[in-house]
Amino acid sequence: MEVILEVKNISKSYDDISVFENISLTVKKGEVVVIVGPSGCGKSTFLRCINALENIQEGEILLDGEAIDPSSKDLSKIREKIGMVFQSYDLFPHLTILQNLMLAPVKVKKTPKTEAEKEALQLLDRVGLLSKKDNYPRQLSGGQKQRVAIVRALMMHPEILLLDEITAALDPEMVREVLDVVLSLAKEGRTMVIVTHEMQFARAVADRMVFIDGGKIVEEGSAQEFFDDPKTERLRKFLNSFSYE
Ligand code: ADP
Ligand code: MG
Repeated sequence: MEVILEVKNISKSYDDISVFENISLTVKKGEVVVIVGPSGCGKSTFLRCINALENIQEGEILLDGEAIDPSSKDLSKIREKIGMVFQSYDLFPHLTILQNLMLAPVKVKKTPKTEAEKEALQLLDRVGLLSKKDNYPRQLSGGQKQRVAIVRALMMHPEILLLDEITAALDPEMVREVLDVVLSLAKEGRTMVIVTHEMQFARAVADRMVFIDGGKIVEEGSAQEFFDDPKTERLRKFLNSFSYE
């Protein structure tokens, strides 16, 4: 399978404080990689490095073989290939859902308005929100807004989607509706790197699991090995912290 993303031995620190060291990750087309680890271990920072929102001190990140770094000349072109969804949805409050979705494709990609509208309506329908197209973000629930945020990322036709704890701020009853959308994207072969604390979801969606702790990748493997047969004590402890048995 074709490699889309190659992270090679990257290290990141803020001032003198190291967040992670020597992390490598290769993601192939259609693969879903789920990253887990304790709070503060650098998961968000890692995704932000991939999207060139952060400088790295060492190593290299390649998307389709092209180097990504915050000083690249073609940064905006490279970034168009990466869709990112965060915990907070930051939709524009003064624009309707449809207008929010059409904004970037029309302004940045110069997609004709009729085409962008058609695609937005199709995607809204797919996530069960067609009836909300003319509503404003404040009129939607958190789960609905997060589904819109996913659609907004898809509107740019990214080659890879980075999802950073996208259900962490949602009420429990809304988590499922958002994760079901992500599962359906995985089934259609989307390439994704997902950070989540939803372990059952992780197990269902992941082709590969990665555990980061203490600034390093401590363990990685197939979902089955990872959950059923963790090799390190640290991962065992981490997984146990989610269980009530
Ligand atoms: P996670 O997403 O795994 O919870 P983060 O990537 O948010 O972890 O943070 C990793 C570490 O980097 C934390 O110790 C955090 O305090 C630190 N950190 C994150 N952003 C900054 C920043 N802009 N300046 C300084 N330290 C930061
Ligand atoms: Mg985080």
